[in-house]
Order: sequence, then structure tokens, then C-alpha cells
Amino acid sequence: MDQPFGIHWFRRDLRVAGNRGLSENWKRNKGRVVGLFCFDKKFLGREDFSVHRFQFFMETLKSLQSELLEMGSDLLFMDVGPEVAFQKILNDLPNPPTLLSWGQDYEPYARQRDKKMQDFFKSKSIATFVARDHLLIEPHELGKKDKTDESYQVYSPFARRWLDIFQDDSVQKRVQQEEAGIEYLKSRLNKKNTKRFNLTWKELLPNCPDAIKVLQSYLSENGKRVKIAIPKAGSLQAFQELQSFTERLEHYQSKRDIPSLPGTSGFSIFLKNGSLTVPQIIYYLKLNPYKKKSSSRDSFFSELIWREFYYHILYHHPQVEKQSFLSQYESLQWENNRTWFEAWKNGQTGFPIVDAGMRQLQSTGWMHNRVRMIVASFLTKDLLIDWRWGEKFFMEMLLDGDLAPNNGGWQWAASTGCDPQPYFRIFNPWSQSCKFDPKGEYIKRYVPELADLQPKELHEPILNNKSYPKPIVDHKMQRLKALEIYKAARES
Ligand code: FAD
Repeated sequence: MDQPFGIHWFRRDLRVAGNRGLSENWKRNKGRVVGLFCFDKKFLGREDFSVHRFQFFMETLKSLQSELLEMGSDLLFMDVGPEVAFQKILNDLPNPPTLLSWGQDYEPYARQRDKKMQDFFKSKSIATFVARDHLLIEPHELGKKDKTDESYQVYSPFARRWLDIFQDDSVQKRVQQEEAGIEYLKSRLNKKNTKRFNLTWKELLPNCPDAIKVLQSYLSENGKRVKIAIPKAGSLQAFQELQSFTERLEHYQSKRDIPSLPGTSGFSIFLKNGSLTVPQIIYYLKLNPYKKKSSSRDSFFSELIWREFYYHILYHHPQVEKQSFLSQYESLQWENNRTWFEAWKNGQTGFPIVDAGMRQLQSTGWMHNRVRMIVASFLTKDLLIDWRWGEKFFMEMLLDGDLAPNNGGWQWAASTGCDPQPYFRIFNPWSQSCKFDPKGEYIKRYVPELADLQPKELHEPILNNKSYPKPIVDHKMQRLKALEIYKAARES
């Protein structure tokens, strides 16, 4: 009982493969490491809480729990915040752990929480190890080349700098280190014995609650409110998705903007909770624009850099969580018409591509990127509704809802963000659907009442359909109004 042991505090790194914090702890404690997840019930009342994302998260935790048990370790699930959880555990344990590890988080709330917890562990003289996890290159590593204190605010120079650093030996080593994790995932797929740990919570705390039961009770309770099919969760599922994307990767460039096709990877739901990571993707798909080039590979790679860019922005400019990055747009005179907002949310605007997107979101918990851009532009520049309303609704609905890219995507579409769509570029929903869904396959999938229409009828106002609403606004007029309110805010 008095042998050294470690605790890994899982947060948004819900996997074993390539989990640096966990493996460092495993090394230092010779396999005597157990996992802990603290679920602060306050989250259930958060503004951006999503029943569906929570269910997917819990399913991921359940899968992690059984993986750890198979490996000879364990995951304790405590439904209190980390301060209370660790205080209780430390009181109950005969000896404190020799090491506490976790993966770095970059969101403003998490940074404050982690700072408090660091101080707490320090006060108890418990060593900690904080690993880079959620990003390949962390915001503090991405200083400007000219060494000024400023951080990058425009994507292209950021991406150039990111790619420079990507070539460094140290970063290439990070990617190569994924090999062991990928081999481990292959062994799991082949059902090989993966027992590598040798400590469970029952050994440490004989009366500790049964995590499976606690998790199951959350899943059943929350499950009563779930209205969509929750996709299979967990790192093994994510790995299988990664394997299956290998074949689709070479067609990414030509298919990624066509919402009726499965042209994108679908990785975002796994990246969000860390059951898959960017270095794993780069390693497995052998992505390296300096070695193997193709337009599809480059374009896919640049999306991964966009993700890191938005984290970088959130880290250096945490105020974007609540405010426009470009402060002049804080004075934008949004109209915020609630009836229009409801129509937008429910896919009843009379603009088929917008309605199809919103119905895809409501019925699956995911929306294609091209359509996210269209519905976000429509909400802000056609309906003149504050981007924060849309951002919040996305967070409630999306399985991949993630503060940094969601905020970045919304502020890009609303032209209030860093390196955004210029304010005068306003998507025309009719020409967008004509270009990206010419035959109306995507529209008809989600708006079945339009199934009998000819494709060309879908890309112009539908005025006489009994089962489908007329357009709630006139796009041309709204466009002019939007230009006015944006100009007024810029000049104020
Ligand atoms: P792929 O095309 O296969 O791309 C691979 C990965 O690259 C994605 O999983 C994602 O991590 C990253 N990526 C792709 N496009 C972007 C982008 N435009 N910005 C940042 N990262 C990107 N992404 C989220 O993960 N969570 C969100 O909450 C979110 N909200 C968004 C809101 C709006 C208004 C917009 C315009 C975009 C948003 N995105 C968000 C970005 C993007 O739409 C999704 O990442 C993408 O659709 C996920 O599908 P995929 O994994 O198949 O993407």
C-alpha cells in the first residue's frame, strides 16, 4: 500500500494512445497509475451545455473506463469539481500520489481552474506534470519571427510560421512519437492483450464508488433527453475513422465543399474530447507538405492549422469569448428579431440551403462546414442577428461544439473576427446552393417537402409551396441593410 503511485486527471484527453501525461506518469510509477475524471455538476447548467454532446462525452468516458480496466488500471468518476474531488481523495488515501499528470487546456475558464489546482497541489507538495496534448504546437511556441511580443492575428503568416516550426526536429519528433500509440491501437483492434498497468482504485480506496455504475446512471438520466442517434464514441472508434479516411483523403479537395457527399473526415467530434489528436492524424496519414504534396493533402493540412490558429487566438485574446475581436463591431446595431431567430433555428426560413443545414444540425448534431458558413452568414447578414446568438445555439446543438473553432467560425462569418470574411462579402444563399448543391441532393435529404421540385427551382425563391414557408426576408434588401449597419459601426 505504501508503494509509489500516480494519478492522471483526464479532462479533454480521453484516450490512452499517445497520451503523454499518462505515459510519463506510467513510466515514473512503473505502471502504478490510475485515472480520475471530475465532473462538476455546474456544467449541467452552463449556457453552452449540450445534452447530445454530454451524452457523447459520457459514452467516450465509458469506453475509456473499459479500456483502462482491460489494461489493468482504472478510472474513477467523481461528480464534483476538481477542488472538492482531490481534497476528498487526498483525505481518504493512506499516502498521497507521487505524481499528478494532466493535459494542457487553453480555454479561459480551464486556465484559471488549472492555475488554482497547480497552487493546491503545490501546497500539498505533490509533484505535477502538465503535458502538451490538445495542439501540436502550443500558442506560447508561436511567437513572431521578428521576436516582437505581438501574436499572429492573420491566418496566412500564422500558417507560414506554424509550418516553419513544424519542420523543427523537436516537432517532427512529437509526430514520430505517435508510432507507439498507433501500434497499440492496432493491437487493440486485433484484440491482443494490452495489459500494461498494475493498479486499480479498489486497491487504493476499497470503498470508492463503482465508476461504471455512476457513469451509467448519468448516461440513462441524460439519455432521456437525447433526440438524435449518438455516434459510436471512444478512441478505437476514432482510430477506425482515421483508417477509413485514408482512402478519401486524396479526394478531399474536390469533395470537401459538397455537403451531400461524405467528403470530409468527420474527425471534429473526436478531436473535441481528445479521443483523437492532430499529431496522431499527421503521423497516420503521413501528412508533410514538404515531403508529400497534393492539393488534397495540403488543403486538409491547412484545416488542421486553422484549428490551431483559432486556439492561438483564444489563448492570446480570451476576450473573444464574449466580444468581437474587431472592437469597432461591438457597436453594431443588430436587429435581433426573435421570430426570425426561431425560424432560423428550426429550419423554416424559406431558404432551402439554410433550412437543410439547420435541420441537419438538429437531427444529427453535426453540420457540414460549407453549410455552417452559409447559415452563419445568413443569420448575421440577412437576419441581422448578433453572431453570439448563433454561436450559443451551435454550442447547444453540435457534437463537436468547441469554443475556439466555433467562436472563430462565427466571428469569421460575421466579419467581426480576426482575419474574417470582409464585411461587404455577403453570401447569396441562392447562388451558394446552386454552386455547392446543384442537384439539390443535400437539400432534399433534409427538407423532404421539396423532394418533387426541379433542382433549378431550389435555387430561387419558392413562393407557392403549401408545405414550405416563403422566404422570411428579401435577400437583396437585407444585404443593403447589412452594409449600412456595418458601415455605421466602422465609422462610429
Ligand atoms: P474536415 O474538413 O475533415 O477537417 C479536419 C479537421 O480540421 C476538423 O475536424 C477540424 O478540427 C479542423 N477544421 C476544419 N475546418 C475548420 C475551420 N473552418 N476552422 C477550424 N478548424 C477547422 N469546428 C469544430 O471543431 N467545432 C465547432 O464548434 C465549430 N464550429 C463552427 C462554426 C462555424 C460558424 C463555422 C463556419 C465553422 C465551425 N467549425 C467548428 C469548423 C468546421 O466547420 C468543422 O471543424 C468541420 O466542419 C468539422 O468537420 P470535419 O471533421 O469533417 O472537417
